[in-house]
Amino acid sequence: MEIYNLIIIGSGPAGLTAGIYAGRANLNPIIITGNTFGGMTSKLSQIENYPGFPNSISGKSLINKMKKQAINSGVTFIKDSIQDFYVLKDKIILTGEKQTEYHSKSVIFATGININRNTIKGLNDYLGHGVSTCLHCDGPFYKGKKVAVYGNKENIFEDIKYLSNIAKEVTFITPNNNDYSKILLLKNVKILNNTSILSINGEKNSGFKSIDIQNNNNNVQSNLEFDGMFIINKEENNSLLFNNKINLTKNGFAITNANSCMTNLNGVFVAGDLKDKNSKQIINACASGADAVSEVKKWLIENKKL
Ligand SMILES: Cc1cc2nc3c(=O)[nH]c(=O)nc-3n(C[C@H](O)[C@H](O)[C@H](O)COP(=O)(O)OP(=O)(O)OC[C@H]3O[C@@H](n4cnc5c(N)ncnc54)[C@H](O)[C@@H]3O)c2cc1C
Repeated sequence: MEIYNLIIIGSGPAGLTAGIYAGRANLNPIIITGNTFGGMTSKLSQIENYPGFPNSISGKSLINKMKKQAINSGVTFIKDSIQDFYVLKDKIILTGEKQTEYHSKSVIFATGININRNTIKGLNDYLGHGVSTCLHCDGPFYKGKKVAVYGNKENIFEDIKYLSNIAKEVTFITPNNNDYSKILLLKNVKILNNTSILSINGEKNSGFKSIDIQNNNNNVQSNLEFDGMFIINKEENNSLLFNNKINLTKNGFAITNANSCMTNLNGVFVAGDLKDKNSKQIINACASGADAVSEVKKWLIENKKL
């Protein structure tokens, strides 16, 4: 069986950028795409903060451009999803969905964040279409508009304050009953505490429209309309692929050496949102994809594998 120089797992911005750099470095890389070509980015209707597109660009168009560039650089794509892997002395063995095996001298995992988004009815349908989990990406779209924020993140005050400086009106909905007196000082913020979200509603073409909520004190249900909605939860990665293999933070993100993409496993590197880094943005995902390839190349040479 062929042993590749480098297999990249994931076809989001981190994986595609790693592919472009590895292809141009003559490593003949393979990208195993996963089930969502383009990852989270491919689902975003409008991206305003990726440089080079002054009038914004849709996630699909951005990913298509990256894909074409990867193909031009010599990347081969394989549609599969990695279920397991183990590191031997001379190679890394990856197993796909149908037990297909892939052998490689080095691997970059760029699998993004795996979040269980089925916890709220409708969230999967409208994420990226009026519902966001990324305040700093999408907050500016709601200048002068009416938005809802729902979440369990501790210290949510700074997030709500940021949004209240942009939006006309912010409604903070929370199942908790903590002390929110600091939030109440913000003049355009309302709080609905002890309140759960039953469903996120909208229309296929126009996107998110409203939410159904329930007041947990008296079980009264109601429907509220907003221009947009943010879910601000603790960031957690639920992927089980790396458990007991790659060193992870308690929230499931890959721990690497300082300023590096190298993990605790020989020949295994990580890039993009999977890395333990605060700012999870496309530009950072791309940058770490490029960095990971430089490190892979150095590692292959130092270990006499090229
Ligand atoms: C609602 C929302 C709005 C956002 N808006 C913006 C914005 O405006 N600007 C911005 O810069 N950022 C934005 N972001 C953040 C941005 O989407 C991410 O930072 C970026 O997509 C991370 O890229 P990535 O390549 O690391 O991971 P992802 O894009 O998540 O890609 C992961 C890839 O790995 C694959 N994969 C997963 N598991 C496996 C497996 N087992 N085997 C094989 N493949 C696998 C997936 O199929 C996918 O192709 C937003 C995020 C959200 C949630």
